[in-house]
Amino acid sequence: MQLTNRAKQVDRKPLNIAEKIYLPAVLKGMGITLSHIFKKKATIKFPEETRPFSPVFRGLHILNRDEEGRENCTACGLCAVACPAEAITMDAAERLPGEEHLYREEKYAAKYEINMLRCIFCGLCEEACPKDAIYLTETFAPANYSRQSFIYGKDNLVIPHPKENPEAFTKAKGLIDERKAKANQEK
Ligand code: SF4
Ligand code: SF4
Repeated sequence: MQLTNRAKQVDRKPLNIAEKIYLPAVLKGMGITLSHIFKKKATIKFPEETRPFSPVFRGLHILNRDEEGRENCTACGLCAVACPAEAITMDAAERLPGEEHLYREEKYAAKYEINMLRCIFCGLCEEACPKDAIYLTETFAPANYSRQSFIYGKDNLVIPHPKENPEAFTKAKGLIDERKAKANQEK
């Protein structure tokens, strides 16, 4: 029984021998593959090759030191207040006599932690900091299996000391200078 008058008799031509062994389809597929050999590749050999970052990219944080190796952060808490993800926590401590070579200000962060699983890399902490102490870099948080490993403390965040590791210190300062230059461009 026909429900509508739109039914059509399908004209199925019998396949010839070439079509039965999929020859035209295989040749057509190989033609597409060959045409892509001469085109520019859309992929790169990561991690040996990397793509340039966007000028507005924001990655992992670093905590700055001055040229004498003293930590800039004074644990004022402005970065934590500015953080929309509540990712930053810190404990402030008072600098003791004899610690002037460790901390630039009279108050410093005895504990400073950023939860990278909460962070949305907005950069507001960097903007809020009045002490030139926190910057975001062009680095990703490496993958890991435990949540705890994504809580970055001072051992991960503070840049190397200029006397203990001058090469790494200069490299970190270079990243900070790049970041400052980009921030100035954005303004
Ligand atoms: S980048 Fe944004 S979300 Fe991440 S710690 Fe800074 S203020 Fe918080
Ligand atoms: S990083 Fe800057 S804003 Fe945050 S507590 Fe330290 S000095 Fe204050």
